[in-house]
Amino acid sequence: MEDLPLTPTQSRVIEELMARRRPRPTFPDTLADRLRSMLEEGLSEAAARVGPDGVSVRKADLSQVHACEAHLLAESSSPFGWNARNARGTVAHKAIELSVNLRPCPPPAELVALAIDRLVEDDWDWGPGRWLSEAPPTEAAELRAYAADVVHKFQDEFPPLKHAWRPRLESSLSAVLCGGRVTLKGKVDLALGQATGTEAKVLIVDFKTGQPAAVHADDLRYYALLETLRVGVPPFRVASWYLDSGHHQLEDVDEGVLEAAARRVIGGVVKLIELRVDGRAARLQPGPTCGYCVSRAECTGAAAWAEQRAEAGVM
Ligand code: SF4
Repeated sequence: MEDLPLTPTQSRVIEELMARRRPRPTFPDTLADRLRSMLEEGLSEAAARVGPDGVSVRKADLSQVHACEAHLLAESSSPFGWNARNARGTVAHKAIELSVNLRPCPPPAELVALAIDRLVEDDWDWGPGRWLSEAPPTEAAELRAYAADVVHKFQDEFPPLKHAWRPRLESSLSAVLCGGRVTLKGKVDLALGQATGTEAKVLIVDFKTGQPAAVHADDLRYYALLETLRVGVPPFRVASWYLDSGHHQLEDVDEGVLEAAARRVIGGVVKLIELRVDGRAARLQPGPTCGYCVSRAECTGAAAWAEQRAEAGVM
């Protein structure tokens, strides 16, 4: 099939984000072992208190426990249920995944319908399949419109992904540490490229529909760490791509970035074990998380945060 001309934003992805003409860095072949040792040493004391089933840690656990321990516990004790708001991202990402591999590529609304069909067929155990199959018509229509908008923006902004770029979508990563007592898990929206020897040639991209936030950089560093532990070579770069504005924030990965990610994981997992296994009382850490926390109506931290904002003249 003939390649269509690229939009300026699509060209920017190739020039600025993929930076295909830039030399790629190489890393010591001992790097992954060193990071693994650093993690296991930092976690060994806490991991020894974990039962044989171990603890499983996702990037959301880490960001929540670092933002506010009480928020983490409140979130994890609220019963989870699928709804239009939390299912729409899963549908949109599935539709993007199909858009990369279906030829000819159907228009966004059709991709979304196919994505919903796939999720309904596949995901009854833990995914939104059951909710999607029974969703009220108005909510389902809003969800489809949202997901089609995300797919449309992705296609406007990203060049068609060539198979030679080795695209991986919705790619799961994990690292098993401390004899299985701690498992780190993540899922990368998009990874392009493949390491050669110790030369880093992978770009990891996370798609965002909201505004930039500091925690996005932490999430990306976490993915970089998991990819390094898996392959033995880090990605050369990680980036958040903001679909509403067509811009990105990127970070080139070096050993300092990975060590910072490992320290953040150690600090977060130790806190998670203290809270979930040892039963330590959670600390309140008033901050931006109060704005959407499930406990905000009754929490003194939320009131303290509102007061701080008022004093600073922030509405
Ligand atoms: S309202 Fe704020 S301080 Fe209270 S638990 Fe939630 S995030 Fe923490």
